Amino acid sequence: MSNAYEELKPFLERAQAFSTARILFEWDNETLAPRAAEPNTTKVVGTLSGEYFSVITDEKVKELVRRCRQEKESLGEVESAVVRELAEEIERLECIPPEEYREFAELTAGSTGIWARAKENNDFESFAPVLKKIVEYSRKFASYRAKEGQRLYDVMLSDYEKGFDIETLDRFFGTLKERLVPFLKKLTESGVEIDDSFLTGDYKEEDQEAVGRFFAEYVGFDFDRGVMAVSAHPFTTNLHNKDVRITTSYNNRVDDSLFSVIHESGHGIYEMGIPDELTQTLVGQGASMGMHESQSRFFENIIGRNEAFWIPVYDRLQKQFPGELGDVSAEQFVKAINKVQPSLIRTQADELTYSLHVMIRYEIEKMLIEEGLKVEKLPEIWADKYEEYLGVRPRNVSEGVLQDIHWSQGSFGYFPSYALGSAFGAQLYYFMKGKMDFEGLLKKGDIKTIREFLRENIHRYGKLETSRQILKRVTGEDFDPGYYTDYLTEKYGKLYGIKAE
Ligand code: ZN
Repeated sequence: MSNAYEELKPFLERAQAFSTARILFEWDNETLAPRAAEPNTTKVVGTLSGEYFSVITDEKVKELVRRCRQEKESLGEVESAVVRELAEEIERLECIPPEEYREFAELTAGSTGIWARAKENNDFESFAPVLKKIVEYSRKFASYRAKEGQRLYDVMLSDYEKGFDIETLDRFFGTLKERLVPFLKKLTESGVEIDDSFLTGDYKEEDQEAVGRFFAEYVGFDFDRGVMAVSAHPFTTNLHNKDVRITTSYNNRVDDSLFSVIHESGHGIYEMGIPDELTQTLVGQGASMGMHESQSRFFENIIGRNEAFWIPVYDRLQKQFPGELGDVSAEQFVKAINKVQPSLIRTQADELTYSLHVMIRYEIEKMLIEEGLKVEKLPEIWADKYEEYLGVRPRNVSEGVLQDIHWSQGSFGYFPSYALGSAFGAQLYYFMKGKMDFEGLLKKGDIKTIREFLRENIHRYGKLETSRQILKRVTGEDFDPGYYTDYLTEKYGKLYGIKAE
């Protein structure tokens, strides 16, 4: 082992501790913290971020990184990857003046609360000034890091998915638009009606929580190493591989919370599958946002919305809701949870139209960051695009532009990863079907074999490889969005009795 790496370790541990504490406060802000706590807690979060910044950009750390690179022959695989990530993190942070970094951390710590209240009160004006500041900071920070000629949105995109820039994404979304939009039109014009009325009803919160916990555990979320709470928008936080936290929210539609729990469990299972030697290091998380979404959406849709999945466990759901589902057959239920219905809310969107919601956000972010779109114009542009692609128009900003938390956190460039993740998942699914009797395993209630495959081939690598490298190593092929459009048109063509072009 390199001596420089040994000297680096205590610095890395300190940085890890500050960032873990900050993440824990963020989790707390979204779940349990009292409303009045915000201004004071925001200061604490600002200080923690500042301390993290100081450790990472310490002159001694930089010197040690240089020495590690000279001694790279003596570094193991994990150590090399940690040094690589650290060098990138230093570069990312050093471009930003510490004062601005701190201001931004404080701004975003308070902004999610302002967003949540604006959404609740259907009041875009109260959020717009904060959002304007966040956009300004984000553009400024990206400009510090942009290589010559690099577009600002490309800098932001690279934070979430290396190797997927505007040019690549324009092509990716172009394929989806070309294949899915006409298919969706055909489907909605087919006149096939699926009844999903029984999914809405008097579904008590405590019953929903009970089934949520059952299904989280059924797919493999380990409650000895994880917890589940309630927040405005479901999300997953991981402190390390033995403390992974998921959230959900409840309303009178039973499938909303059920599938968000399975989705977040997919994220959680990924983080729980990170091996001990990687956790609490800079490579101890999922490979990328897209690869993370590939796992969550794999559990939610490819597993959870699969007809075979429900065969052994549908009666568990019926038992919890005898009044609502007692007379509904498993077949009716599976049709209902796969009903295609162009709608307004991304997180409640069906599997087929989901990526069109993402496409809208991608186009708007590109306009906001690259084309000078004014924040004030957002509600209208948003509504226009929904009308154009999905044929529905929001009546207010709560069900329109204010529905997602991401922009309030300064996460621009994140959304495309949702669609990419679905596409990665479809490519993995076709590969796995060639290796195992996928649906047969689901019918037997054997999620473990599937989960173990994902752990062995994806989770245990953490951030040692990029998403593209992982796909190539596992499936033997480069990223190919054709699997995703094939998967969707096959599945929904069968369900609705229509043929793709
Ligand atoms: Zn997710």
